[in-house]
Amino acid sequence: MENYIVSARKYRPSTFESVVGQRALTTTLKNAIATQKLAHAYLFCGPRGVGKTTCARIFAKTINCMTPTADGEACNECESCVAFNEQRSYNIHELDAASNNSVDDIRQLVEQVRIPPQIGKYKVYIIDEVHMLSASAFNAFLKTLEEPPRHAIFILATTEKHKILPTILSRCQIYDFNRISVEDTVEHLSYVASKERITAEPEALNVIALKADGGMRDALSIFDQVVSFTGGNITYKSVIENLNVLDYDYYFRLTDYFLENKVSDALLLFNDVLNKGFDGSHFITGLSSHLRDLLVSKDTATISLLEVGASIRQHYQEQAQKCSLPFLYRAMKLCNDCDLNYRTSKNKRLLVELTLIQVAQLTTEGDDVIGGRSPKKTLNPVFTQPAVVQQPRVVSASPAQQNVVHSAQSPVATQVPVNAAVVPQTHASTATSANPMTSVSTSGSQGAGASPAIREEKKIPVMKMSSLGVSIKRPQREQVAQNSTTTPTANIQVQPEEDLIFNDRDLNYYWQEYAGQLPKEQVAIAKRMQGLRPVLIGNSTSFEVVVDNEIAAKDFTALIPKMQDYLRKRLKNSKVQMTVRVSAPTETVRAVGRVEKFQLMAQKNEALMQLKDEFGLELY
Ligand SMILES: [Zn+2]
Repeated sequence: MENYIVSARKYRPSTFESVVGQRALTTTLKNAIATQKLAHAYLFCGPRGVGKTTCARIFAKTINCMTPTADGEACNECESCVAFNEQRSYNIHELDAASNNSVDDIRQLVEQVRIPPQIGKYKVYIIDEVHMLSASAFNAFLKTLEEPPRHAIFILATTEKHKILPTILSRCQIYDFNRISVEDTVEHLSYVASKERITAEPEALNVIALKADGGMRDALSIFDQVVSFTGGNITYKSVIENLNVLDYDYYFRLTDYFLENKVSDALLLFNDVLNKGFDGSHFITGLSSHLRDLLVSKDTATISLLEVGASIRQHYQEQAQKCSLPFLYRAMKLCNDCDLNYRTSKNKRLLVELTLIQVAQLTTEGDDVIGGRSPKKTLNPVFTQPAVVQQPRVVSASPAQQNVVHSAQSPVATQVPVNAAVVPQTHASTATSANPMTSVSTSGSQGAGASPAIREEKKIPVMKMSSLGVSIKRPQREQVAQNSTTTPTANIQVQPEEDLIFNDRDLNYYWQEYAGQLPKEQVAIAKRMQGLRPVLIGNSTSFEVVVDNEIAAKDFTALIPKMQDYLRKRLKNSKVQMTVRVSAPTETVRAVGRVEKFQLMAQKNEALMQLKDEFGLELY
């Protein structure tokens, strides 16, 4: 029985010419050898399995070859070459820094460096994964790297260039190895297949190349794996089964469903995929890639970015013609959002399903799609309930409506925890947008204040959905649901609302928060605000700000509408009222500063002053 050699080793390139996918780089190396312009140290950077060590070995063999060929390759016949090919040459030393990274390992290497070669001209030291060397090992190595003997050449290889010390980088000639393109990988795999008398469908090899993600070594090991699985007849079907790759066909079908707004079919397809043992995350990233591939297929300028085989390429181009650009942009955005939220989601399946529903509805939104705005967070046709969540935003312009919303009592609201409270947030944005008094000068800060609320609001549909137990198998409800969103007053239960109670401390906290975020131009009023302490009066939703002169009173009165809006929103209470009063002559208005406070205390207790002096404390 003959010995089995893995393809990655058996088909390891032995000449620069046969290195796959690194043409520019191998040409440069060959030229350097031909013109005798050799550096003492090289750094080969690049992802794993793209040929760094292989090139280093070919390089070592070639510079020691006694009779190099006309095109600058090693002859593979001279004594040195034979020794190299039989792996018994003393002119090449390989150190794997991942496992030999101590100072002693490096010292040993440095000792060896001194000894000149017996046959050939150069001794080549390949240090693999050089970024793994310890700091002290690096230092021990630096001296040798600086003044190596004439016969020594170092080739350092790393997958993580950024981890290499600048002192090393500056002493090396740097070569960046590329990921090997899918096309090159496929070509090499078919070459190996033909050598091994294996039949392989091009699409199958393409899947292997994609899976290997630019690494030839990985591609060849996957290839071996598939060969042993299929017994020498590699088909597309067998490869996707064996590699747990989701068939392109699923995504093509799914995209058709999206374009035809077939929500139920999309959900059933997802169910099918889950039943096959794929997880949702895998599915959604695959969908993102598919949409991206469709996008690049639309334009002849970007079609080269599509890394698929010829027959599937055709399919992509056909489907791409059916998709509008805004649809693709928005679908990609939705899938990407889903991907980002996937890890933290408690109900992952629902998250994916919601995304599918949203994408399947993109083309129903008519003008919006053409407008190309960012995806709406709405879920219209299938569910009736989300319309409720959206409703207060629709009516926000009308103060009358606003009152209706406020006065509605809800039995649910009391159970809603403060942070997740849907209602006051919604209300708050209502109040903000309903306010006609937003002046130009502070509109910036207003916007900043409103944004957290809007962000929280975005979560609402998801949160609500999960608690509703909605049936998604009833597309006939679509019509009804759509009507209900376009006419906000129809058959809608008003969103639960309740004002939260608050105390002086809460009030002061948000008062200071408001002052703290005022823009620079308003530093004067901000400072004054920070020196004041609003006090709750009467019914405990009204508060009073006491100032010491008429001018200040005027300034603060002008501030009332915006301040009220802000505090209503932050305190989640719609009834917050602010009044301004000029102080009586005897009243102390200013809050005492820290320095003043200390002085007052020190007047009462001399020891405090001593303490300050003793320790050389300073007051700020
Ligand atoms: Zn030779």
